[in-house]
Amino acid sequence: MSFVVFDDVCKTYDGLVNVVDRLQLEIGEGEFLSLLGPSGSGKTTTLMMLAGFERPTAGHIRLRGESIERLPPYRRNFGMVFQNYALFPHMTVGENLAFPLTVRRTGRAEAEQRVKRALEMVRLPGYESRLPGQLSGGQQQRVAVARALVFEPQLILMDEPLGALDKQLREEMQLELRGLHERLGITTVYVTHDQSEALTMSDRIAVFHQGRIQQVAEPQAIYERPSNLFVASFIGESNRLPAQLVEAHGDGRCAARIAEGTVLRGFAAAPCGVAAQAVVAVRPERIAVTAASESALQDNTLAGVVEETIFLGGHLRVRLKCAAGEIVATVPIQAAAAVPPAGSRALARFPAASTVLFPA
Ligand code: ADP
Ligand code: MG
Repeated sequence: MSFVVFDDVCKTYDGLVNVVDRLQLEIGEGEFLSLLGPSGSGKTTTLMMLAGFERPTAGHIRLRGESIERLPPYRRNFGMVFQNYALFPHMTVGENLAFPLTVRRTGRAEAEQRVKRALEMVRLPGYESRLPGQLSGGQQQRVAVARALVFEPQLILMDEPLGALDKQLREEMQLELRGLHERLGITTVYVTHDQSEALTMSDRIAVFHQGRIQQVAEPQAIYERPSNLFVASFIGESNRLPAQLVEAHGDGRCAARIAEGTVLRGFAAAPCGVAAQAVVAVRPERIAVTAASESALQDNTLAGVVEETIFLGGHLRVRLKCAAGEIVATVPIQAAAAVPPAGSRALARFPAASTVLFPA
């Protein structure tokens, strides 16, 4: 049985638009699931309904099989770390952590033990008597995480908890939170609009757009097998070429012809028929660029002219002008010697395994 189930959940604030629309989602016990999507796509609303601060307009949310829509937030026993769910500034770290325990009438000696353990978990042992104002932003967020953990919740909800931190600290905290999850195994639902954060931390990612889930899958599947063009362009970068389908096989392999005549082989993101219009998508890092020595039409090979090459440390970013449009390739630095200079003719090649066709 799934731990949490959203069953056809809708939410409207104005009675007109469903900001969460027929949400169907299952979360496994012990899983780290991220809700990823652009601003306004319904992530926070979804989390607020799970927390109990918002009621679904329709549908059900179940926890271990039981409907929880009528259960008030404090009876759900969920830990929460929200971007604007700050620490009490006038209380010490110890008092902040003891607060959820006092509310739950935990005995004093036990509370002290738990506060101590929670601070050790977030690598702030002995910080009980500090005030939040005496801590850095990262340390404050770690205290907020400790406060969410201290009463041993059955589920942790986090809404952009690292949003206010600078890049380096954010990346450090991503690994720290991931490590904490691996040690404790508490089911975690994590909201972010940052695709690399979701890829780094999650067991699975649910991609949101306009209140609907576009795809739920493991990070690698989201990246390599996006189920539609929104997912393909929101996560990572994709080159897109309009094409016409000329082959479609039962196992998903297919081929499409672009305007200049070249055939691009790949796999279809959704069932499709021959002669349909499609968009072919290829990741920049899947494209090899070499000098054009031959001009024969080969499958999955585009001929063009190098417009620009930019050195970016670990790789070279190459812009190519092809008859079908502009292509961007990111070439690892050890393969950069094969890339001809700007103004030269070049070939861009990519394997069928990394080519996705989206029927229009
Ligand atoms: P996200 O967290 O993905 O940015 P939200 O769930 O916060 O998205 O918002 C989804 C949509 O619902 C947005 O269009 C937002 O303006 C609207 N919305 C969110 N909260 C409220 C509210 N309390 N009242 C009215 N509209 C809201
Ligand atoms: Mg939000």
